Parts: sequence; structure tokens; C-alpha cells
Amino acid sequence: MSNKFDVIVIGAGPGGYVAAIRCAQLGLNTACVDDWQDADGQPSLGGTCLNVGCIPSKALLDSTEKASHAAHDFADHGISVGNVSVDVPKMIERKDGIVSNLTKGIAGLFKANKVTSLHGRGRLLKNKQVEVSTGKEVAVYEADHVIMAVGSVPVSIPVAKVDNELILDNVGALNIKKTPKKLGVIGAGVIGLELGSVWNRLGAEVTILEALDTFLPPVDKQLAREAQRIFSKDQAMDIKLGAMVTATRTNKKSVRVTYTYKDEEHSDTFDALIVAVGRRPNTSDIAADDAGLKLDEHGRIEVDEHCRTSIDSVYAVGDAVSGPMLAHKASHEGVAVAEQIAGQAAHINHATVPWVIYTHPEIAWVGINEEQAKQQGINYKTGFFPFAANGRALAMNEKGGRIKMIADADTDRILGVHILGPNASELIAEAVLAMEYSASSEDVARTVHAHPTLSEAMHEAALAVDGRALHKVN
Ligand code: FAD
Ligand code: NAD
Repeated sequence: MSNKFDVIVIGAGPGGYVAAIRCAQLGLNTACVDDWQDADGQPSLGGTCLNVGCIPSKALLDSTEKASHAAHDFADHGISVGNVSVDVPKMIERKDGIVSNLTKGIAGLFKANKVTSLHGRGRLLKNKQVEVSTGKEVAVYEADHVIMAVGSVPVSIPVAKVDNELILDNVGALNIKKTPKKLGVIGAGVIGLELGSVWNRLGAEVTILEALDTFLPPVDKQLAREAQRIFSKDQAMDIKLGAMVTATRTNKKSVRVTYTYKDEEHSDTFDALIVAVGRRPNTSDIAADDAGLKLDEHGRIEVDEHCRTSIDSVYAVGDAVSGPMLAHKASHEGVAVAEQIAGQAAHINHATVPWVIYTHPEIAWVGINEEQAKQQGINYKTGFFPFAANGRALAMNEKGGRIKMIADADTDRILGVHILGPNASELIAEAVLAMEYSASSEDVARTVHAHPTLSEAMHEAALAVDGRALHKVN
């Protein structure tokens, strides 16, 4: 094998592996370096997303949602199933099977596209050389272009040191083998709510300790308030806002957490504690000093709007650069960079990157929310529609939540769409497409939506922007 490539990608998460495949499709001789190993010490492609992120968390969310429906909702449909029990090791095994299937799938895609897969730790040297070290051997490769897709790692806090026995990060939290009786979670962000929901549905008593006084600040205020009520009241997750953890102490079986809440000191003992206080770019020692790679004050690789770094022909994408830490954002940037390298015009529209939180109900949004519209001094109008007035949602026993659309009051162009409700993760795609095409709320209002579907709630929200929703009083 030659040690010279057109492109070397460092990192095989959704940013890197997608960039590598697209480069290869465009006829570029491409290698992808990745150092991830599975529990058996075997290389496993797909990065955080496939190994310990998006996919395994959604597998567990799906299993537990089914269990929760069987235990709580089937009776409403006249279905009796007796006592519902969940075999947790089997559930984890199913999740591991899906991960293995998909990570091996990436290896297959690399092979089919003739991407050279190099296992080891990559480090950028000067002149676009890449050192790959396996621990035993070090090799140096050369490339005309390098794409850095090194991803992110969990933020750690000194008061709760992760041991992945009792104090868990996302890796440990996805591998709990027995439902904890009492589960503590630090951080009411995306991971805290998703993984808190998994174990809450299996009967764990879940307490979430969130430092901020606001619940889900990026989410539209009205929807965040409704979501908080559903999670706290209907699902009995104890979400404590404004709670600061000051100490943790573990013994063999439990962890005692001390925190201040409402100006008083409290202590709680949990069978497991998940720490989910954010992620940081995985950029330590990724480049030699004389390579010239610049990081910003947050440790992210500095890039311009085309993902170009401080070094000519070296690009960076995904969690390691600015913007939301989301798999689809990483992949989108990966494709755009590959196409630029191949001399094509590439387009990255960060304004239409959707967010989804896979709780029940799901939360999804794209574009700006009302508070941001106010801050930006935009003259806007809104329309909302509750799922309680949507026939399909009622047929599904899914009455909670709503869709809110925000449009420019002068031009009617859609500025943001926010959904709390069933299948929000799928429904948001219509809003993303509409915004990508600069649609107005009238464009969506004039589009035929199949009946009976949840998407009719999007249609009604668009009609409501103009005060003419058909199935609610405007
Ligand atoms: P990563 O996926 O982190 O991949 C980076 C890869 O590079 C890794 O394999 C790493 O080992 C390797 N690497 C790093 N440095 C080197 C080096 N020097 N040499 C060789 N290899 C290196 N996002 C969503 O959009 N939807 C979700 O539902 C979702 N759920 C999530 C759930 C959890 C629990 C977590 C933790 C994250 C979730 N995310 C989700 C976020 C998503 O996983 C990340 O945004 C995404 O993986 C970022 O992709 P990336 O390619 O930038 O980096
Ligand atoms: P997050 O940023 O979503 O939430 C972290 C929360 O922890 C915040 O609410 C923050 O205020 C709080 N916090 C920070 N320090 C704290 C402290 N000392 N005590 C108590 N609370 C504290 O981060 P996350 O949940 O760890 O997830 C990391 C990232 O991974 C997400 O931002 C997202 O980009 C990605 N992710 C996405 C999905 C998805 O798309 N569905 C799912 C999981 C993760």
C-alpha cells in the first residue's frame, strides 16, 4: 500500500466516515484513520454516534417506549397483556446487536467504495502529513487534503468523577444491566432527558439535577413549559432546576450526592448517577505544534464558513468545530468538504439544521424561536395547533403537545417551526424542507396533506399563522 493519498480523513464518526465515502465516490484516493475500539478491543467504525450515542440511545428508547405503552396504554385500546416485565440484559444485547450491525456496515461501505481504513490514532504533522500510531507501530502518510473529524467527548466535573460503575457518562449509562431503583442524573439537557426517560420507563425513580433555572433554554418557551409539565407530572421524573451538585461519595453499591437547591443543602442516595453536562471537542494532541492548526478559545478547531482551517487544504467538520453537536450536521459538513475538494460548489446551510430530543413526546425544532425573533427585533406572527385536535393523534392515543410555526409578519417567510408531540422527529423534515426552499406559511397552508395524518397538524399550524386553522378556534 502506498502511503500517499488524495485525502486522509481523521475520525470515522458521522462527519468523517461520510466525508470519506463521498470523497471516494468523487474519485479521490481516500484513507480514513480511526482509533475507536469496541468492548472486545476490536476496531469499530461510526464514532460516538454509532457506538455510544445516537443509535444505541435510540435503540433503548424504542425498547422502553414499547414497554411503557404495553404497561400503561394498551389497556385503553382494550388490550390486556398482564404484568409487563423487561429483560434488561436482553434489551442491552439487542442494542449491542444493532450497534455491531451498523458499525460493521460502515466497514463494508468503506470496502465497497475503496476507502482505505487505517486503525490507530491520527495526528496532523506539517505539510499535510498524518502520523498514525497503533500503540505498537507508527507510520506516516501523506495527503493533498486532510479532513479533521475528531468529534467530541463528555465534559467531566470534578465533583462527580465518572467511574462507569456507579457514576456514569453516556458509555456507562447505555450499559446499565439492571434497572436502578433510584437514578440520579446531573444535567437536564438532551442526554439527561433521553437516558433519564429510558430508565424512568422501566420503573427507576429518576431525579434530574440541573444547574440552570430554565428548562431546555434552546427550546421555544411555551413548548419547554409543556414538556416540563409532562415529564414531571405525567411521567414523574423529579426535575430540579437551579440545583448545584457540590459533592458525591460512592460506596460499593450506591452514590450519595450532595447539592444545593432553593438555598438549602440536600443529599440523596442513588443506585447510579449519570453525568450529562455537555460535550467538548476532542482536540487534545491532534496536531504537532509546527503543523499550524489553530483552535479557538473553546478548544474547537477554528474554521471558516466552508470548514477550512488555518492550514491550506486542511478542513474540519462535526463536533470538533463550531455549531450544534449533531450527527446530521457533521455528515452534512463532511459531504460539503468532500465536494469542495473535488472542485464542486458546496453548500452548508446551518440555519436549517433540525434538532430532535427523543423523549415521549418528542421535541423537535428548526430555525428561530419566539424569544429569538423578539431579540432580533423581527416583526413576526405565529400559528399553533394542538395534537389534541388532530384525528390521527387521537387515534394513536397521543394527545399531548402542539406545533408552533413562526413566520415573518411582513414577508410571511417561515422563520422557525417547533414541535412537541408524537413523531416530531419525522414531522420536522417538512419544516426543514420548507425553510430550505424559503417557503412562506402560505406555501405550507396551500399544500395538500394526507388525512388522517399527524402532518395535518403542520398544515393547521401554517393556516393558524393567518388565523384560519380549520379544526380549532383561532
Ligand atoms: P464522533 O462521532 O465523535 O467521531 C469521532 C471519531 O474520531 C471517533 O471514532 C473517535 O474515536 C475518532 N478520533 C478522534 N480523534 C482521533 C484521532 N486523533 N485519531 C483517530 N481517530 C480519532 N446526535 C444526533 O444528531 N442525534 C442523536 O440522536 C444523538 N444522540 C446522541 C446520544 C448520545 C448519548 C450522545 C453522546 C451523542 C448523541 N448525538 C446525537 C451527538 C452525535 O453523536 C455527535 O454529534 C456525532 O457523533 C458527531 O460526529 P463526529 O463525526 O463529529 O464525531
Ligand atoms: P446538553 O448541553 O444538552 O445539556 C447539558 C445540561 O447540563 C445543560 O442543561 C446544562 O445547563 C447542565 N449542566 C452543565 N453543568 C452542570 C452542572 N455542573 N450541574 C448541573 N447541570 C449542569 O449536553 P448533554 O445532554 O451532555 O449532550 C451533549 C450533546 O450531545 C448535546 O448538546 C447534543 O449536541 C448531543 N446530543 C444530541 C442528541 C439528539 O440529537 N437527540 C442526544 C444526545 C446528545
